Amino acid sequence: MARRWMSARIHAPAGSAKIKQRAPAAPNAAGSAVQQISSSPGWMNGYLTAEACRDGDGSAARSQDSPRRRLDEERCQGMSIFQADLFETAAPPPPAVDHVAAERDRQRGRLREIHRRLCHEYGCPVAHWAEHDPLSALVSALLSHRTRNKESGAAFDELRRRFPTWEGVRDAPVADVQAAIVACNWPEQKAPRLQDVMRRITARRDGVLSLDFLGGMDARAARDWLEQMPGVGPKSSAAVLSFSNLRMRALPVDSHHHRVAQRLGLIPESLDVGPAHAVLEAMLPDEWDAQEVYDDHEILMFHGQRCCFHRAPECPRCVLLDLCPVGQERTAPRRG
Ligand code: SF4
Repeated sequence: MARRWMSARIHAPAGSAKIKQRAPAAPNAAGSAVQQISSSPGWMNGYLTAEACRDGDGSAARSQDSPRRRLDEERCQGMSIFQADLFETAAPPPPAVDHVAAERDRQRGRLREIHRRLCHEYGCPVAHWAEHDPLSALVSALLSHRTRNKESGAAFDELRRRFPTWEGVRDAPVADVQAAIVACNWPEQKAPRLQDVMRRITARRDGVLSLDFLGGMDARAARDWLEQMPGVGPKSSAAVLSFSNLRMRALPVDSHHHRVAQRLGLIPESLDVGPAHAVLEAMLPDEWDAQEVYDDHEILMFHGQRCCFHRAPECPRCVLLDLCPVGQERTAPRRG
Protein backbone atom coordinates (compact mmCIF):
# COMPACT_ATOMS: atom_id res chain seq x y z
CA MET A 1 0.00 0.00 0.00
CA ALA A 2 1.32 3.46 -0.82
CA ARG A 3 2.19 5.40 2.28
CA ARG A 4 2.99 9.00 2.84
CA TRP A 5 4.60 10.90 5.61
CA MET A 6 2.82 13.60 7.52
CA SER A 7 4.18 15.72 10.27
CA ALA A 8 2.64 18.28 12.59
CA ARG A 9 4.06 21.15 14.52
CA ILE A 10 2.55 21.20 17.98
CA HIS A 11 2.72 23.44 20.97
CA ALA A 12 3.34 21.50 24.13
CA PRO A 13 3.94 22.91 27.60
CA ALA A 14 7.61 22.05 27.40
CA GLY A 15 8.07 24.02 24.20
CA SER A 16 7.68 23.56 20.52
CA ALA A 17 7.68 20.05 19.13
CA LYS A 18 7.00 18.07 16.02
CA ILE A 19 4.82 15.05 15.45
CA LYS A 20 5.97 12.68 12.75
CA GLN A 21 3.23 10.41 11.64
CA ARG A 22 3.46 7.51 9.27
CA ALA A 23 -0.03 6.78 8.12
CA PRO A 24 -1.61 4.94 5.21
CA ALA A 25 -2.97 7.26 2.58
CA ALA A 26 -6.28 5.40 2.46
CA PRO A 27 -9.14 7.20 4.26
CA ASN A 28 -10.14 5.81 7.65
CA ALA A 29 -7.10 3.59 7.75
CA ALA A 30 -5.16 5.94 9.95
CA GLY A 31 -7.02 5.12 13.11
CA SER A 32 -4.42 2.59 14.09
CA ALA A 33 -1.47 4.53 12.82
CA VAL A 34 1.20 5.40 15.28
CA GLN A 35 2.53 8.87 15.66
CA GLN A 36 5.99 9.38 16.94
CA ILE A 37 6.29 12.58 18.90
CA SER A 38 9.52 14.39 19.09
CA SER A 39 10.42 17.83 20.25
CA SER A 40 13.26 20.03 19.29
CA PRO A 41 15.63 20.75 20.85
CA GLY A 42 15.92 17.72 23.10
CA TRP A 43 13.62 15.38 21.20
CA MET A 44 10.69 14.26 23.29
CA ASN A 45 10.15 10.66 22.32
CA GLY A 46 6.86 8.91 22.77
CA TYR A 47 4.01 7.39 20.90
CA LEU A 48 0.35 8.10 20.64
CA THR A 49 -2.23 6.74 18.31
CA ALA A 50 -3.77 8.85 15.65
CA GLU A 51 -7.08 7.58 16.93
CA ALA A 52 -6.51 9.54 20.13
CA CYS A 53 -6.30 12.74 18.14
CA ARG A 54 -9.33 11.99 16.01
CA ASP A 55 -11.39 15.07 15.31
CA GLY A 56 -15.00 15.37 16.22
CA ASP A 57 -16.63 14.93 12.86
CA GLY A 58 -14.51 12.35 11.14
CA SER A 59 -11.49 10.19 11.23
CA ALA A 60 -7.88 11.07 11.72
CA ALA A 61 -7.41 10.23 8.09
CA ARG A 62 -9.56 13.22 7.19
CA SER A 63 -7.38 15.39 9.36
CA GLN A 64 -4.38 14.24 7.38
CA ASP A 65 -6.18 14.99 4.17
CA SER A 66 -6.61 18.59 5.28
CA PRO A 67 -3.17 20.06 5.62
CA ARG A 68 -2.92 22.83 8.15
CA ARG A 69 -6.10 21.69 9.84
CA ARG A 70 -5.99 22.55 13.47
CA LEU A 71 -6.15 19.87 16.14
CA ASP A 72 -7.28 21.59 19.28
CA GLU A 73 -6.73 20.82 22.90
CA GLU A 74 -9.98 18.97 23.26
CA ARG A 75 -9.12 16.38 20.63
CA CYS A 76 -5.69 15.73 22.10
CA GLN A 77 -6.73 16.00 25.71
CA GLY A 78 -4.45 14.27 28.17
CA MET A 79 -1.56 14.08 25.79
CA SER A 80 0.22 17.30 26.60
CA ILE A 81 -0.58 18.53 23.14
CA PHE A 82 -2.38 21.80 22.90
CA GLN A 83 -2.37 22.71 19.29
CA ALA A 84 -1.15 21.12 16.15
CA ASP A 85 -0.84 22.32 12.61
CA LEU A 86 -0.59 19.52 10.12
CA PHE A 87 1.46 19.86 7.00
CA GLU A 88 2.84 17.40 4.57
CA THR A 89 6.58 16.98 4.44
CA ALA A 90 8.46 16.75 1.20
CA ALA A 91 10.21 13.48 2.03
CA PRO A 92 10.53 11.06 4.94
CA PRO A 93 13.58 11.37 7.10
CA PRO A 94 16.34 8.91 6.24
CA PRO A 95 15.75 5.59 7.98
CA ALA A 96 18.02 4.75 10.88
CA VAL A 97 20.63 2.13 10.01
CA ASP A 98 19.74 -1.17 11.65
CA HIS A 99 23.13 -2.77 12.09
CA VAL A 100 21.73 -6.03 13.44
CA ALA A 101 19.43 -6.49 10.45
CA ALA A 102 22.21 -5.47 8.06
CA GLU A 103 24.56 -8.08 9.52
CA ARG A 104 21.84 -10.74 9.41
CA ASP A 105 21.17 -9.94 5.74
CA ARG A 106 24.90 -10.09 4.95
CA GLN A 107 25.24 -13.50 6.61
CA ARG A 108 22.06 -14.71 4.95
CA GLY A 109 23.54 -13.80 1.58
CA ARG A 110 26.70 -15.73 2.41
CA LEU A 111 24.64 -18.72 3.58
CA ARG A 112 22.73 -18.76 0.29
CA GLU A 113 25.99 -18.88 -1.66
CA ILE A 114 27.46 -21.57 0.60
CA HIS A 115 24.25 -23.57 0.22
CA ARG A 116 24.30 -23.18 -3.56
CA ARG A 117 27.89 -24.41 -3.87
CA LEU A 118 27.53 -27.31 -1.45
CA CYS A 119 24.28 -28.40 -3.12
CA HIS A 120 26.22 -28.52 -6.37
CA GLU A 121 28.98 -30.50 -4.66
CA TYR A 122 26.87 -33.06 -2.80
CA GLY A 123 23.56 -33.02 -4.65
CA CYS A 124 20.26 -31.54 -3.54
CA PRO A 125 17.63 -32.39 -2.60
CA VAL A 126 19.27 -34.82 -0.18
CA ALA A 127 17.31 -38.02 0.37
CA HIS A 128 16.05 -38.72 3.85
CA TRP A 129 17.93 -41.62 5.42
CA ALA A 130 14.99 -42.97 7.44
CA GLU A 131 11.23 -43.04 7.57
CA HIS A 132 10.97 -42.98 11.34
CA ASP A 133 7.84 -41.88 13.12
CA PRO A 134 8.63 -38.98 15.49
CA LEU A 135 8.93 -41.14 18.62
CA SER A 136 11.43 -43.42 16.87
CA ALA A 137 13.33 -40.31 15.73
CA LEU A 138 13.47 -39.12 19.33
CA VAL A 139 14.81 -42.49 20.53
CA SER A 140 17.41 -42.36 17.77
CA ALA A 141 18.38 -38.80 18.77
CA LEU A 142 18.74 -39.72 22.44
CA LEU A 143 20.91 -42.71 21.59
CA SER A 144 23.12 -40.59 19.34
CA HIS A 145 24.31 -38.19 22.05
CA ARG A 146 28.11 -38.22 21.97
CA THR A 147 28.08 -41.41 19.93
CA ARG A 148 29.03 -42.09 16.33
CA ASN A 149 26.14 -42.67 13.94
CA LYS A 150 27.25 -46.22 13.24
CA GLU A 151 27.18 -47.20 16.91
CA SER A 152 23.95 -45.40 17.80
CA GLY A 153 22.36 -46.96 14.72
CA ALA A 154 23.40 -50.42 15.90
CA ALA A 155 21.96 -49.72 19.36
CA PHE A 156 18.69 -48.54 17.82
CA ASP A 157 18.41 -51.63 15.61
CA GLU A 158 19.08 -53.96 18.53
CA LEU A 159 16.51 -52.18 20.67
CA ARG A 160 13.92 -52.65 17.93
CA ARG A 161 14.88 -56.30 17.50
CA ARG A 162 14.48 -57.10 21.20
CA PHE A 163 11.38 -54.95 21.79
CA PRO A 164 8.83 -54.89 18.99
CA THR A 165 6.98 -51.91 20.55
CA TRP A 166 8.09 -48.74 22.33
CA GLU A 167 5.66 -49.62 25.12
CA GLY A 168 7.77 -52.75 25.60
CA VAL A 169 10.89 -50.61 26.05
CA ARG A 170 9.09 -48.28 28.45
CA ASP A 171 7.87 -51.12 30.68
CA ALA A 172 10.91 -53.43 30.54
CA PRO A 173 13.45 -53.86 33.35
CA VAL A 174 16.01 -51.11 32.87
CA ALA A 175 18.84 -53.68 32.74
CA ASP A 176 17.26 -55.25 29.65
CA VAL A 177 17.08 -51.90 27.88
CA GLN A 178 20.66 -51.14 28.88
CA ALA A 179 21.82 -54.48 27.48
CA ALA A 180 20.06 -53.76 24.18
CA ILE A 181 21.76 -50.40 23.66
CA VAL A 182 25.22 -51.40 24.82
CA ALA A 183 26.68 -50.47 21.40
CA CYS A 184 26.31 -46.74 22.14
CA ASN A 185 28.20 -44.69 24.70
CA TRP A 186 26.85 -44.51 28.27
CA PRO A 187 24.08 -47.14 27.97
CA GLU A 188 23.73 -47.09 31.77
CA GLN A 189 22.63 -43.44 31.58
CA LYS A 190 20.68 -43.63 28.34
CA ALA A 191 18.52 -46.63 29.28
CA PRO A 192 16.82 -45.00 32.31
CA ARG A 193 16.63 -41.69 30.42
CA LEU A 194 14.81 -43.33 27.51
CA GLN A 195 12.31 -44.98 29.83
CA ASP A 196 11.81 -41.76 31.80
CA VAL A 197 11.07 -39.78 28.62
CA MET A 198 8.66 -42.45 27.39
CA ARG A 199 6.79 -42.44 30.70
CA ARG A 200 6.53 -38.66 30.65
CA ILE A 201 5.17 -38.66 27.11
CA THR A 202 2.63 -41.31 28.09
CA ALA A 203 1.55 -39.29 31.13
CA ARG A 204 1.22 -36.03 29.19
CA ARG A 205 -0.68 -37.68 26.35
CA ASP A 206 -3.30 -39.42 28.51
CA GLY A 207 -1.77 -42.86 28.31
CA VAL A 208 -0.69 -42.80 24.66
CA LEU A 209 2.98 -43.29 23.86
CA SER A 210 3.26 -41.46 20.56
CA LEU A 211 4.56 -38.15 19.21
CA ASP A 212 2.49 -38.15 16.03
CA PHE A 213 0.41 -35.28 17.42
CA LEU A 214 3.38 -32.94 16.93
CA GLY A 215 2.52 -32.85 13.24
CA GLY A 216 -0.51 -30.72 14.10
CA MET A 217 1.56 -28.05 15.81
CA ASP A 218 3.77 -25.36 14.35
CA ALA A 219 7.46 -26.16 14.48
CA ARG A 220 8.35 -23.80 17.31
CA ALA A 221 5.55 -25.04 19.57
CA ALA A 222 6.43 -28.66 18.81
CA ARG A 223 10.07 -28.04 19.69
CA ASP A 224 9.14 -26.29 22.92
CA TRP A 225 6.98 -29.28 23.86
CA LEU A 226 9.82 -31.70 23.21
CA GLU A 227 12.44 -29.60 24.98
CA GLN A 228 10.53 -29.94 28.23
CA MET A 229 11.68 -33.55 28.28
CA PRO A 230 14.88 -34.35 30.18
CA GLY A 231 17.88 -34.63 27.87
CA VAL A 232 16.06 -33.11 24.90
CA GLY A 233 17.75 -29.94 23.65
CA PRO A 234 17.54 -27.97 20.41
CA LYS A 235 19.46 -30.54 18.38
CA SER A 236 17.20 -33.44 19.40
CA SER A 237 13.99 -31.47 19.01
CA ALA A 238 15.02 -30.28 15.55
CA ALA A 239 16.08 -33.82 14.61
CA VAL A 240 12.67 -35.21 15.58
CA LEU A 241 10.84 -32.70 13.40
CA SER A 242 13.23 -32.71 10.45
CA PHE A 243 14.37 -36.36 10.26
CA SER A 244 11.10 -38.08 11.08
CA ASN A 245 8.24 -38.60 8.67
CA LEU A 246 6.80 -35.30 9.95
CA ARG A 247 9.32 -33.55 7.65
CA MET A 248 8.88 -30.22 9.43
CA ARG A 249 11.03 -27.11 9.02
CA ALA A 250 13.71 -27.32 11.69
CA LEU A 251 17.50 -27.11 11.58
CA PRO A 252 19.54 -29.59 13.62
CA VAL A 253 23.19 -28.65 14.12
CA ASP A 254 25.59 -31.52 14.73
CA SER A 255 29.31 -31.25 15.50
CA HIS A 256 30.34 -31.24 11.80
CA HIS A 257 27.76 -28.61 10.87
CA HIS A 258 28.81 -26.54 13.88
CA ARG A 259 32.54 -26.71 13.05
CA VAL A 260 32.06 -25.76 9.40
CA ALA A 261 29.76 -22.86 10.33
CA GLN A 262 32.37 -21.58 12.78
CA ARG A 263 35.20 -21.75 10.27
CA LEU A 264 33.12 -20.01 7.63
CA GLY A 265 32.37 -17.22 10.10
CA LEU A 266 28.62 -17.83 10.07
CA ILE A 267 28.73 -18.05 13.86
CA PRO A 268 31.36 -16.88 16.34
CA GLU A 269 34.10 -19.32 17.22
CA SER A 270 33.09 -19.10 20.88
CA LEU A 271 29.44 -20.04 20.30
CA ASP A 272 28.54 -23.51 21.58
CA VAL A 273 26.49 -25.91 19.53
CA GLY A 274 23.34 -25.44 21.65
CA PRO A 275 22.97 -21.67 21.22
CA ALA A 276 24.26 -21.95 17.63
CA HIS A 277 20.88 -23.44 16.68
CA ALA A 278 19.01 -20.18 17.22
CA VAL A 279 21.63 -18.09 15.40
CA LEU A 280 21.79 -20.36 12.36
CA GLU A 281 18.02 -20.75 12.21
CA ALA A 282 17.55 -16.97 12.24
CA MET A 283 19.88 -16.82 9.23
CA LEU A 284 17.78 -19.20 7.10
CA PRO A 285 16.06 -17.49 4.17
CA ASP A 286 12.35 -17.23 4.91
CA GLU A 287 11.36 -18.84 1.63
CA TRP A 288 13.29 -22.06 2.24
CA ASP A 289 10.95 -24.96 2.82
CA ALA A 290 11.49 -27.96 5.12
CA GLN A 291 13.45 -29.86 2.46
CA GLU A 292 15.82 -26.95 1.83
CA VAL A 293 16.41 -26.52 5.56
CA TYR A 294 17.06 -30.26 5.84
CA ASP A 295 19.42 -30.01 2.85
CA ASP A 296 21.27 -27.17 4.53
CA HIS A 297 22.01 -29.29 7.57
CA GLU A 298 22.97 -32.33 5.53
CA ILE A 299 25.34 -30.58 3.11
CA LEU A 300 27.16 -28.70 5.88
CA MET A 301 27.48 -32.00 7.74
CA PHE A 302 28.73 -33.76 4.59
CA HIS A 303 31.29 -31.01 4.11
CA GLY A 304 32.57 -31.51 7.64
CA GLN A 305 32.80 -35.27 7.08
CA ARG A 306 34.38 -35.16 3.61
CA CYS A 307 36.51 -32.02 3.37
CA CYS A 308 36.49 -29.69 6.38
CA PHE A 309 37.90 -32.33 8.73
CA HIS A 310 38.30 -31.64 12.41
CA ARG A 311 42.11 -31.90 12.53
CA ALA A 312 43.23 -31.21 8.98
CA PRO A 313 40.69 -29.48 6.74
CA GLU A 314 41.57 -29.81 3.06
CA CYS A 315 41.25 -26.13 2.25
CA PRO A 316 43.07 -26.04 -1.13
CA ARG A 317 40.39 -28.26 -2.71
CA CYS A 318 37.45 -26.71 -0.84
CA VAL A 319 34.72 -25.11 -2.98
CA LEU A 320 34.19 -22.54 -0.21
CA LEU A 321 37.79 -21.39 0.09
CA ASP A 322 37.19 -17.84 -1.15
CA LEU A 323 34.32 -17.45 1.34
CA CYS A 324 36.17 -18.85 4.33
CA PRO A 325 38.34 -16.75 6.68
CA VAL A 326 39.94 -19.83 8.23
CA GLY A 327 40.69 -21.34 4.82
CA GLN A 328 42.17 -18.04 3.62
CA GLU A 329 44.47 -17.91 6.58
CA ARG A 330 45.49 -21.55 6.28
CA THR A 331 46.35 -21.24 2.60
CA ALA A 332 48.03 -17.80 2.73
CA PRO A 333 51.71 -17.86 1.71
CA ARG A 334 53.98 -17.92 4.73
CA ARG A 335 56.74 -15.38 5.08
CA GLY A 336 60.30 -16.62 5.47
S1 SF4 B 1 38.24 -23.50 3.33
FE1 SF4 B 1 39.05 -25.04 4.77
S2 SF4 B 1 38.32 -24.40 6.79
FE2 SF4 B 1 37.08 -23.32 5.25
S3 SF4 B 1 35.27 -24.59 4.95
FE3 SF4 B 1 36.75 -25.18 3.39
S4 SF4 B 1 37.88 -26.90 4.30
FE4 SF4 B 1 36.82 -25.85 5.97
